[in-house]
Amino acid sequence: MLPPPSLGPELHDALDRVLHPQFRCKAVCELRCKHCARMMCQRGMKAILLASSKPGELRVELFSTDSPPPGAELFGDDYTTASCRCLIRDAACLGCGNTVAYNVTKPCATCLQACNNGHLWVLHADSVSSTDRLDTSGRKILRWADLPPAETDGDMAGVHEYSLFCR
Ligand SMILES: [Zn+2]
Ligand SMILES: [Zn+2]
Repeated sequence: MLPPPSLGPELHDALDRVLHPQFRCKAVCELRCKHCARMMCQRGMKAILLASSKPGELRVELFSTDSPPPGAELFGDDYTTASCRCLIRDAACLGCGNTVAYNVTKPCATCLQACNNGHLWVLHADSVSSTDRLDTSGRKILRWADLPPAETDGDMAGVHEYSLFCR
C-alpha cells in the first residue's frame, strides 16, 4: 500500500475553512487610517458582520485581514464583548494612535463553527478608508484567489519577486 499523501483530505478541509470558496472572488483592499492616512494593510477584505452588540443594528460593515496589519500595533489586555465569547484585543494606528482595529486573540466556539473567512484581524469601517488593490499588471482588481500568502506578500517583496521571475 502507498503511504498517505502529505496533503490529506483533513488538511484540504482545513484549508477550505481558512478561505471558504465564497470569499475567494472578493476584491483585495488596501486600507489606510482615516485619521492620518497611514497604510494599515494591503490584504483587506470587506465583510458584513451579521450579529451586532448594538440592539436594532443588524449589519455592520467591517474590513478583515489574515495577518497582523503592518500599520497597527496591539495594546492593552484581552476582553470580551456582549455579542459572543471571543477574546479580543484592540490595536492602534502606529501613525496617530487612534484605535483602528482589533485582533481576535481567541475565537469562541460559536464563531469557529460559523462560516467565516478565517480572518482574526478586524479593522473598523469608520476608522479606515479602502481602495481596491490592483494586480501586478496594474489594470485588474486583485481577487483573494490570486493573492499570494501573507509570508510572501511583503510591501515590496511581491514586486521584487515578480521582476526577478520575468528576467
Ligand atoms: Zn465569537
Ligand atoms: Zn492613523
